[in-house]
Amino acid sequence: MAMALLGDSDEWNLSYEFDAAVPVSGIYLCTGCGKELTARKGERFPHQNQHRHTDFKIPVHWRLVLKTAVN
Ligand SMILES: [Zn+2]
Repeated sequence: MAMALLGDSDEWNLSYEFDAAVPVSGIYLCTGCGKELTARKGERFPHQNQHRHTDFKIPVHWRLVLKTAVN
Protein backbone atom coordinates (compact mmCIF):
# COMPACT_ATOMS: atom_id res chain seq x y z
CA MET A 1 0.00 0.00 0.00
CA ALA A 2 1.68 3.18 -1.25
CA MET A 3 0.35 5.41 1.50
CA ALA A 4 2.35 3.50 4.08
CA LEU A 5 5.53 4.67 2.37
CA LEU A 6 4.76 8.24 3.37
CA GLY A 7 5.00 7.43 7.03
CA ASP A 8 8.02 6.30 8.93
CA SER A 9 6.30 5.50 12.18
CA ASP A 10 3.69 3.16 13.57
CA GLU A 11 0.89 5.72 13.38
CA TRP A 12 -0.15 4.27 10.01
CA ASN A 13 -0.40 0.79 11.40
CA LEU A 14 -2.04 1.36 14.74
CA SER A 15 -5.75 1.46 15.37
CA TYR A 16 -7.52 3.28 18.16
CA GLU A 17 -10.56 2.41 20.17
CA PHE A 18 -13.33 4.69 21.43
CA ASP A 19 -12.35 7.56 23.67
CA ALA A 20 -8.64 7.16 22.83
CA ALA A 21 -6.52 10.29 22.41
CA VAL A 22 -6.05 11.34 18.78
CA PRO A 23 -2.31 11.08 18.04
CA VAL A 24 -2.17 13.14 14.83
CA SER A 25 -4.65 15.36 13.00
CA GLY A 26 -6.15 13.53 10.06
CA ILE A 27 -8.90 11.45 8.59
CA TYR A 28 -9.55 8.15 10.25
CA LEU A 29 -11.54 5.18 9.05
CA CYS A 30 -13.52 2.83 11.25
CA THR A 31 -12.37 -0.60 10.14
CA GLY A 32 -15.59 -2.08 11.45
CA CYS A 33 -18.08 -0.12 9.32
CA GLY A 34 -16.07 2.11 6.95
CA LYS A 35 -17.17 5.42 8.45
CA GLU A 36 -14.68 8.25 8.01
CA LEU A 37 -13.91 10.71 10.77
CA THR A 38 -11.92 13.92 10.78
CA ALA A 39 -10.08 14.31 14.07
CA ARG A 40 -7.60 16.78 15.43
CA LYS A 41 -4.55 15.98 17.47
CA GLY A 42 -5.31 16.24 21.16
CA GLU A 43 -9.01 15.49 20.76
CA ARG A 44 -10.51 12.15 21.57
CA PHE A 45 -12.16 9.63 19.33
CA PRO A 46 -15.93 9.33 19.74
CA HIS A 47 -17.19 7.76 22.91
CA GLN A 48 -18.79 4.37 22.47
CA ASN A 49 -22.19 6.04 22.82
CA GLN A 50 -21.42 8.36 19.89
CA HIS A 51 -20.31 5.70 17.42
CA ARG A 52 -21.69 2.22 17.75
CA HIS A 53 -22.40 -0.64 15.40
CA THR A 54 -25.70 -2.41 14.99
CA ASP A 55 -23.76 -5.63 15.43
CA PHE A 56 -21.98 -5.19 18.73
CA LYS A 57 -19.58 -8.00 17.89
CA ILE A 58 -17.92 -5.75 15.29
CA PRO A 59 -15.35 -3.65 17.15
CA VAL A 60 -14.78 0.06 16.59
CA HIS A 61 -11.19 0.59 15.48
CA TRP A 62 -10.09 3.91 14.01
CA ARG A 63 -7.19 3.82 11.57
CA LEU A 64 -5.36 6.81 10.14
CA VAL A 65 -5.88 7.09 6.37
CA LEU A 66 -4.80 10.69 5.69
CA LYS A 67 -2.94 13.36 7.62
CA THR A 68 -4.60 16.76 7.35
CA ALA A 69 -1.97 18.93 9.04
CA VAL A 70 1.66 18.95 10.00
CA ASN A 71 1.95 18.07 13.63
ZN1 LIG B 1 -17.76 1.99 12.88
